[in-house]
Amino acid sequence: MLSDFGQEVFGVVASSKRETLGFQTEVRQLLKLMIHSLYSNKEIFLRELISNASDAADKLRFEALADPELLDGETDLSIRIEVDKDKQQLSIIDNGIGMSRDELVDNLGTIARSGTAEFLAQMTGDRKHDAQLIGQFGVGFYSSFIVADKVTVETRRAGLSANEAVLWESDGQGEFSVEDIERAERGTKVTLHLKDEQKEFSEPLRIETLVRKYSDHIGFPVSLRVVGADDKEARIVNSATALWTRSRSDVSDDEYKEFYKYLTHDFVDPLAWSHNRVEGKREYTSLLYIPSAAPFDLWNREAPRGLKLYVQRVFIMDDAEQFLPLYLRFVKGVVDSSDLPLNVSRELLQQNADLAAMRGALTRRVLGMLEKMASSEADDYQTVWREFGQVLKEGIVEDHANKDKLARLLRFASTHNDSDAQDQSLEDYVGRAAPDQDKIYFILAENYATAVASPHLEQLRKRGIEVLLLVDRIDPWLVDGLAEFDGKALVDVAKSALELPDSADAASQDEINEQYKSLLDKTRKVLGERVEAVNVSRRLVESPACVVAAENDLNPQLRRMLEASGQKVPQSKPILEINVEHPLVKRLSAEADDAVFDDLANIVMDHALLAEGAQLDNPAKYVRRMNKLMLDFNPGATSEQ
Ligand code: ADP
Repeated sequence: MLSDFGQEVFGVVASSKRETLGFQTEVRQLLKLMIHSLYSNKEIFLRELISNASDAADKLRFEALADPELLDGETDLSIRIEVDKDKQQLSIIDNGIGMSRDELVDNLGTIARSGTAEFLAQMTGDRKHDAQLIGQFGVGFYSSFIVADKVTVETRRAGLSANEAVLWESDGQGEFSVEDIERAERGTKVTLHLKDEQKEFSEPLRIETLVRKYSDHIGFPVSLRVVGADDKEARIVNSATALWTRSRSDVSDDEYKEFYKYLTHDFVDPLAWSHNRVEGKREYTSLLYIPSAAPFDLWNREAPRGLKLYVQRVFIMDDAEQFLPLYLRFVKGVVDSSDLPLNVSRELLQQNADLAAMRGALTRRVLGMLEKMASSEADDYQTVWREFGQVLKEGIVEDHANKDKLARLLRFASTHNDSDAQDQSLEDYVGRAAPDQDKIYFILAENYATAVASPHLEQLRKRGIEVLLLVDRIDPWLVDGLAEFDGKALVDVAKSALELPDSADAASQDEINEQYKSLLDKTRKVLGERVEAVNVSRRLVESPACVVAAENDLNPQLRRMLEASGQKVPQSKPILEINVEHPLVKRLSAEADDAVFDDLANIVMDHALLAEGAQLDNPAKYVRRMNKLMLDFNPGATSEQ
């Protein structure tokens, strides 16, 4: 009693004591959702537990490279499964790395992965939708509570003695307990106390089928033993050859898919994979996958990414991010090198002379896979683009060597079709352009609706010239980095010096301005500091006016983005273009009353800004002017100044 009291008040925990702890809030929510939404996929728990056991064996083999004593004479690493029908129990046992008390408490209960809370906020309660989302999160150990009403974990970390083992126990509700125990064996034993309606998972045949289906390809033997009344000797039930070491022709599509799920904890099939063995100067095998959905933490800079690295079949590290560029962070897979030293660390990898070449080759491999999909599986490629398009766009800026390849992979929304789907390639665009069109036109906007309704498109639309509608945050950088495609320059239709295909011999801006000099001068004077210049527009058809940026000015979207992120951006004023054919501009031109001219000119300017998605500096003033104007339309009303 006294020590209980002591524990609560002073937080002192005698390590032999049984301790009851609450799951972290996020873990608790995750558990609930998982059980609820994954019910129809309940059997995946076995894959997850075997995957953890195999990781534990991998980790021990790796740590033992530096400290062989950890193996303590027991060098054959394996996974055992025991089923006990009478007790309705199923155990997954490994002789891998095991966990210390602290690791156990952290890993299975108190530490949720970063970003879990935001992830959970996206859950809707709709089973199908949530199941998809959980797949992106990766399910793991907690999936055992789909089939078990109690789970116990007995574990002893490699290097610790028999009396330093720990027992973890939980019913998956709100709490778990940990307690020190004696355990002769190294590694971890996870026992599921199956729910009554899930006792099928204590049937040997059912388990054997599942192991073959889900875990045949892992590199360690998995044995199955029946315990209890009809105790039988253990038998190996998987082929125990790491999948990537087999020859491509021996591996079925289903096996590739299962291996992906085992590797990533995703439970949705991947879209594509590429399995290759490179021989010669450098020898390595790679197996790369394109997932079918973005992970929940694709935009989290700290999120782990990269490939699982093996050296001569020995697991070295997860998330080796050095093998692929950042813009391919969604790619999952394994690389197994024959040349890297077994003691390679992240730092050593960075300095390794062969790495750049491997990275280059793996990058080309992924791009090749995407190219192939884009040309022969357009629907799948649309999924890739929807999920990872914005990330791939980073490549245009980052990866100069592969710019041409990447440019062909880009997809855009365009005025060619009436939808916001990003499904047009630059090749499509160029193929449709008239022979004398030597440019690729684009507009940048905050969203599709603003882009497609922009006054800047009017002249181009009238002449049937296609414009790409760019609405992603990264697009201003993308067009900067891309600059041209197929010898055709990319041109922003909202820049002042817009040249359209047959405008070469047309009058110059100065010549046209000259004809409307007095109107332009007067407007310029009235608008004062609000504008850099006022020009006669050659791009408008239906709208009275629009604003454009000078050739070397920052694009307004980029400016707003940089300002929003707190950066100082050099100030620049827009150029107002007016459509001298428009009745409103004609009215402005004919206006004799200076005060009315002033209001009208400012309203025209405000509307041009609003159409482009900008915010007005002084909305109240705009509203006052508009109110006045509307009152003036009513001959019976008196206007107030
Ligand atoms: P994940 O495997 O995706 O990291 P889990 O929830 O399945 O997530 O497991 C959490 C952590 O618990 C693992 O990362 C690992 O550190 C530890 N763990 C789980 N199972 C075992 C095991 N059999 N042996 C050693 N450590 C384990």
